Amino acid sequence: SDKTRVCIVGSGNWGSAIAKIVGANCARLSNFDDRVTMYVYEEMIDGKKLTEIINTTHENVKYLPGHKLPSNVVAIPDIVEAAKEADILIFVVPHQFIRNFCSSLLGKIKPTAVAISLIKGFDIAEGGGIDLISHIITRHLKIPCSVLMGANLANEVAEEKFCETTIGSRDMKMAPTFRDLFQAHHFRVVVVDDVNAVEVCGALKNIVACGAGFVDGLGLGDNTKAAVIRLGLMEMIKFVDIFYPGSKLATFFESCGVADLITTCYGGRNRKVSEAFVKTGKSIKELEAEMLNGQKLQGPITAEEVNFMLKNKQMEDKFPLFTAIHKICSGTIQAKDLIDCIRNHPEHM
Ligand code: NAD
Ligand code: 13P
Ligand code: CA
Repeated sequence: SDKTRVCIVGSGNWGSAIAKIVGANCARLSNFDDRVTMYVYEEMIDGKKLTEIINTTHENVKYLPGHKLPSNVVAIPDIVEAAKEADILIFVVPHQFIRNFCSSLLGKIKPTAVAISLIKGFDIAEGGGIDLISHIITRHLKIPCSVLMGANLANEVAEEKFCETTIGSRDMKMAPTFRDLFQAHHFRVVVVDDVNAVEVCGALKNIVACGAGFVDGLGLGDNTKAAVIRLGLMEMIKFVDIFYPGSKLATFFESCGVADLITTCYGGRNRKVSEAFVKTGKSIKELEAEMLNGQKLQGPITAEEVNFMLKNKQMEDKFPLFTAIHKICSGTIQAKDLIDCIRNHPEHM
């Protein structure tokens, strides 16, 4: 048919929440094919395949329990099978797995397909820098890739509580299509062309969220947490300014910027696990496995990726908060040393 076919690559907490919206929109709108495929990383739950559970009960019992997915969303364990006919590929997997998925899809998708990434994180690049996830998708699959980032805690979106999101796209001809695909009465979309800044905001705020969690774990109070959030924002702005020049300050005032920073520093998984890290003395890895039931943290790995580049460029001292958070996550310094690392922040000089 000439209807637009959509595939969701990923089915974690956010993947499943967005499947509710995208599935409903594809069913409702005549220019989209009703059938939405969702690639599911297969696993066994009480002796049953997760894909079979989703396709019979329409609930992702592991990653988004208590919510029905639209019945036109079909779970498929084979990524090539799920993606091969898609005109729009929605990437929503924890960022550490994206390279594997790109290699599986190479040469197996429609050459005319377009991608949109909901993934928050980076990858380390040859030459000592970092890559944006959307750039990895474009480079590997040779298709354009837009991004969607915002203050969007998945469980709240699934509960249909009002929020906003930001789509960054280089191709404004695609803007109406993306808006139709993602917008809902409770999920309001703003499309901007400042793609790199949108994506970098989404990745960096997860580092700051770890800092907010440390502050909570240390019992330092609301003023300290606000200071960490503000210094985090200033480092995010500086990071975009140095490494993605030409981006706009206005983008930080979209949902992907300050709003996502706030929600993640209060309600996110990175914050929660980082607080427990201080209180229990267990490792981040241990706590991720213990507290998140298979969901994945993005903050500590993103802090490591960013540090890899900052260290190579001898710029760690320009980003003391990002640097301290990485050192705490990796066990080089203790959480209680966080404040001493930011007491003489460049912002105070
Ligand atoms: P998640 O944290 O729920 O991760 C679980 C998913 O990872 C499951 O689908 C699981 O099957 C898969 N997985 C686990 N091990 C794997 C492996 N070895 N190989 C491949 N897949 C594996 O995922 P999510 O919440 O959907 O997050 C995806 C992206 O969306 C992340 O970058 C995240 O930052 C971003 N995001 C999440 C939220 C949220 O509130 N959850 C909101 C906005 C953006
Ligand atoms: P966490 O991964 O810390 O839960 O943040 C979710 C998020 O990105 C909300 O927009
Ligand atoms: Ca339809």
